[in-house]
Amino acid sequence: MPTVEPPRVAIVGAGPSGLFAAAALVSNPDVRVDIFDRLPTPFGLLRYGVAPDHASIKAVATTLARVFESERVRFLGLVEFGRDVTAAELLAAYDAVIYAVGAADDRHLGIPGEDLPGSRSARQFVAWYSGHPDAEPQPMAGVRDAVVVGVGNVAVDVARILLKEPSALSVTDMPDMVLAALRQAEVEHVWLVGRRGPEHATFTTPELRELLETPGIGITLTGCDLDAIDGDVLERHARANVAAIARALAESPVTADRWLHLLFWHRPTALDGEGRVQAARFEPTAPFAEPLTVPADLVLRSIGYRGVPLPGVPYDEGRIPNLEGRVLELDSSARPGEYAVGWIKRGPVGLIGSNKKDAAETVAHLLTDLATRPRRQLEDLDATLAARGVHPSDLEDWRRIDGAEIARGGIRGSERTKIEAWHDLLDLVRRDAGPA
Ligand code: NAP
Repeated sequence: MPTVEPPRVAIVGAGPSGLFAAAALVSNPDVRVDIFDRLPTPFGLLRYGVAPDHASIKAVATTLARVFESERVRFLGLVEFGRDVTAAELLAAYDAVIYAVGAADDRHLGIPGEDLPGSRSARQFVAWYSGHPDAEPQPMAGVRDAVVVGVGNVAVDVARILLKEPSALSVTDMPDMVLAALRQAEVEHVWLVGRRGPEHATFTTPELRELLETPGIGITLTGCDLDAIDGDVLERHARANVAAIARALAESPVTADRWLHLLFWHRPTALDGEGRVQAARFEPTAPFAEPLTVPADLVLRSIGYRGVPLPGVPYDEGRIPNLEGRVLELDSSARPGEYAVGWIKRGPVGLIGSNKKDAAETVAHLLTDLATRPRRQLEDLDATLAARGVHPSDLEDWRRIDGAEIARGGIRGSERTKIEAWHDLLDLVRRDAGPA
């Protein structure tokens, strides 16, 4: 009798959705999982998206990392899908492939001045303060007036980071150079702008309250009258948000060094400035609001992330078309052996924990399909990569980076200080690993 090889699954992306999928897979005996990432570090948006001052959410990494304790799981860092390995090669080497690549781009406002220096996406700003090795530096010297467009949780994160005293951030894992840049800013005003009312905002109440309770800030409200909102017809979370704002306004100091200005029922029409952004213009989106122009040295659009297409994989409007995680062609026909999880599956919404249920759904379908599809002879991808000069980094390399970051943190009195430069990360990777 020929022996049956254990099923092998490749996961592209070592963020929360990929790691939840890996955990769901290896809870089944036999299944082997290789997790690929273009970075030498796992955890994706948990590492490079969750705000540095949200230590309790970041602690989810400890749970997610447990999957690496299984000897049936491998981490292959520094392997970029499309450049170092193709969809066809993965499909030839594994019984199934799961795309867990998240949403690496963001939406644009499409207004004049949006590309002026000083205007960028919140996603880029978050990547910068999280120490992502690809993040562009963020000049902060002289930033007094900031505008954040959008009223979701990402907007709340960036507004809070801008309003906090940098000294309060030194206990986080922010890279030293980010803290130094934030110290150069002299933020006095942060405008948080929603195109609808506070009752329609997508931020969640605990996150909103945390922002409103940033020590030492004053709070104003423009563009809407809270008393005119009928709380009885609102859903619970919307009612709680409106109540939190009303309370914060009532308790706001009259004088403050830093101000959070909540502006609702306005949308930006243009960013103005000579050589860099200096002001943001807004038009009302409700009959009771007035046009407004505010000074702005920094404008962060926080209007949603967006998935990017993967070479050789169907793509539609920021997502991989799929039915409960089974990848589909654009004409809805099946793509056997290919699956999606996380934001590239369902769009850029939901908390880290939402990915657990999402991954379970995809993995359940994958295992059903595995049990019913005839097995194939699989190619040896390790040999293909080696022949191409691609030497993946592994868990040991990550543990070396992890240890170096914890050691750096010790110097500053934080649990960890991120290593943000590619060359420093690569220095910690074994010599035979790394890009060709
Ligand atoms: P989001 O919640 O979808 O918020 C996007 C915001 O952008 C909304 O206020 C939306 O307003 C606005 N918007 C969209 N297009 C616009 C336009 N053209 N002009 C002006 N405003 C526009 O997305 P997100 O903040 O990027 O967050 C993504 C997901 O991550 C969410 O599920 C969020 O809860 C989660 N997250 C959670 C945390 C946390 O738990 N601490 C932190 C960060 C992110 P409309 O509603 O009017 O479209």
